[in-house]
Amino acid sequence: MNEKTLVRCPTCKSRNRVPLSKLDATVRCGRCHEDFDLSSISQGKTIAVDESSFNVIVDQSIIPTLVDFWAPWCGPCRTVAPVLDALAQDWRGRVKIVKVNTDENRSLSARFGIQGIPTLVLLDGGQTIDTIVGALPKQELKSRVEGHLD
Ligand SMILES: [Zn+2]
Repeated sequence: MNEKTLVRCPTCKSRNRVPLSKLDATVRCGRCHEDFDLSSISQGKTIAVDESSFNVIVDQSIIPTLVDFWAPWCGPCRTVAPVLDALAQDWRGRVKIVKVNTDENRSLSARFGIQGIPTLVLLDGGQTIDTIVGALPKQELKSRVEGHLD
């Protein structure tokens, strides 16, 4: 995997290539020269989001975000959960992984037209890039998502 990540400046939206070793630092945008910090992408673990936090954590994310639509009663969702935990570490700084409980966040399910779960939606800059329905094995999911990255 590339040792750099492509992050979108929150001010001017231009994309900056940043070494993954700088994830704990503040970086300066090469175009508009505003500083922005990378703490929102440095966790390396999945993040639970709801209707109130979705805009800030997903729509305004400075890196692509994979959203896992799941529910506690869904067996295949439990199969996907450890895969996503592992990928969150693999993709630290490159792709954020968030989880939406569909039972508690029906308007988000409606926004993305979720018909069944698990459904994974890849977003970048607030736009849907790919929708993956059902549980995929780790390598298959990993190469499908990475196929969309630069
Ligand atoms: Zn900028």
